[in-house]
Amino acid sequence: QQAEQRHQIESTISRLFAPEDAGLQGALQAARDAGLPEIQINPIQGKLLQVLATACQARKILEIGSLAGYSGIWLARALPTDGHLITLEINPEHAEVVRASFANAGVGDRTEVRVGAALDLLPTLTTEGPFDLIFIDADKASYPQYLDWAIKLSRAGSIIIADNCVRDGVAFQQTATMDADTIGLVQYNQLTREDPRLTTIVLANDNDYTDGLNIAVVKAH
Ligand code: SAM
Repeated sequence: QQAEQRHQIESTISRLFAPEDAGLQGALQAARDAGLPEIQINPIQGKLLQVLATACQARKILEIGSLAGYSGIWLARALPTDGHLITLEINPEHAEVVRASFANAGVGDRTEVRVGAALDLLPTLTTEGPFDLIFIDADKASYPQYLDWAIKLSRAGSIIIADNCVRDGVAFQQTATMDADTIGLVQYNQLTREDPRLTTIVLANDNDYTDGLNIAVVKAH
């Protein structure tokens, strides 16, 4: 019953504070049509990304892991018209869906999808930063390396957000039997907690298909 009540409250918050417009709904439909997995963030998290992008007056945003462009649309909508979002995606078929969904949502002019393994693409971005907000949501094993790059590509006041940092609490444990993805998440939480350059919190978010966000603000380099 408690779970049902919590679900109701989240639905109400989504409806009142984070309604999906036609562009966002179109991205979800395009993803289903293309047979992509439904592993995007939820509307409350999308709106939280917008709130954070607005808080740091983001003009340049970097996303690692585009899927179908759902989170990218939330982020791009928080940019001024001359702002820019670069999203990195390893799967060229996903990238095609993302480009179409960005255009359909009216944010094609301020967004760019780059195709490749993020760890290959990140070193090419050093002259394009600093990025005001970085959203990490790709392969979990590489999260510690993504954090290094995110800090390198940021400025004091930038916000670094990473998805899937709770995993039912497993992302805070230390055991010898974890797979590479879980180890990546555990290390990410530990690194962000201990790094004196960051102020960090994890927000658990336990509804049907979502996970928690790790949110870190860069204090200084
Ligand atoms: N951020 C998206 C959203 O909420 O709408 C969801 C991203 S989905 C969880 C992860 C994406 O990362 C997938 O599209 C996957 O193909 C991509 N990916 C996985 N490994 C990657 C890598 N090494 N470099 C870039 N993208 C990667």
